[in-house]
Amino acid sequence: MARIYNFSAGPSILPEEVLQECAADMMDYKGSGMSVMEMSHRSKVYDEIIKQTEKDLREVLEVPDNYKVLFLQGGASLQFAMVPMNLMKTKADYIVTGSFARSAYKEGAKYGQANIAATSEPDTFRYIPKQEDLKLDPEADFVHICENNTIEGTKYPYIPETGNVPLVSDMSSCILSEKVDWSKYAMIYMGAQKNMAPAGLTVVIMRDDLEIQHPDCQPIMMDYQKMIEKESMYNTPPCWPIYVMGLNLKWVKANGGVEGMKKRAEERSGLLYNYLDNESKLFKGVADKDCRSLMNVTFRTGDDELDALFAKEAAAAGMSNLKGHRSVGGLRASIYNAMPLEGVKTLVEFMRAFEAKHAK
Ligand SMILES: *Cc1c(COP(=O)(O)O)cnc(C)c1O
Repeated sequence: MARIYNFSAGPSILPEEVLQECAADMMDYKGSGMSVMEMSHRSKVYDEIIKQTEKDLREVLEVPDNYKVLFLQGGASLQFAMVPMNLMKTKADYIVTGSFARSAYKEGAKYGQANIAATSEPDTFRYIPKQEDLKLDPEADFVHICENNTIEGTKYPYIPETGNVPLVSDMSSCILSEKVDWSKYAMIYMGAQKNMAPAGLTVVIMRDDLEIQHPDCQPIMMDYQKMIEKESMYNTPPCWPIYVMGLNLKWVKANGGVEGMKKRAEERSGLLYNYLDNESKLFKGVADKDCRSLMNVTFRTGDDELDALFAKEAAAAGMSNLKGHRSVGGLRASIYNAMPLEGVKTLVEFMRAFEAKHAK
């Protein structure tokens, strides 16, 4: 069977070249006589893989030397708890722009005083609150944001100014799609399965001057300081996803780096948004125009049954996972780095044909 266009929000599409290289390495990784899945994480050959992957990640994202890179597990969802466990002394501000941001806030509230600095929840998370609408506490231990709201299809059009308060950003679904302005962030983190690697790996990049807390009963596995000391090797790291991320980073480098990725993302999302804004009478974009995501495009017909029919017929035509998240319904096309422009062209053509058939 041929490969289809996979619009899944995560785990999601990876570049074919990366998959082919995995396949070529499978039985015998570079003369080691075994696959990367089978080798000791303490072996010399694996040590080279993890070190090179960190080096490439630093290069692609231009990570400054005073930031630590950690390869962890537990997903972005575990970071919702680890961030406050490690960084909250008394209180923190949360900007709630979607269901993942809300989950982070709920975890934060277990560790201290979590304040909602702004929320777009009453308007179904259609937009990102503006800087002047943020009620930020200058005494907060950190400000948490979810930069690209995977489910709702919004992204910050600006990076919040937080003064001296460390900004922590969940970049799970936008990492590697543009440059990171490190002067703004104390820490970023991401579940790797959206735009970097297969599921099982969580990447944390944090400034080395952050004061790390050690509450009673803190599991070693949830202690950033321990993980920094042990260079992500306190226990077995997620060896295979780290290796695949390494291959993916090489692919990103070979294709123009994060700036090249951004250009492609603008082309892809532009095609789809242009169709939604300027042509379609049936499909409508869900997110406000000034804060739309380049990675997750949400849209709907306004008729749940028609949305469901669209997702079903698209799947039959070789375009999978276009159903919106179960919590919000509608439709969503996740168009991460590895999605070829051709995939979006095919989708728009299909939408056009569907619209012609169902025009009222
Ligand atoms: C997918 C996602 C999460 C949850 O990630 P897990 O790794 O499954 O825990 C959190 N935040 C954002 C922005 C996401 O896209």
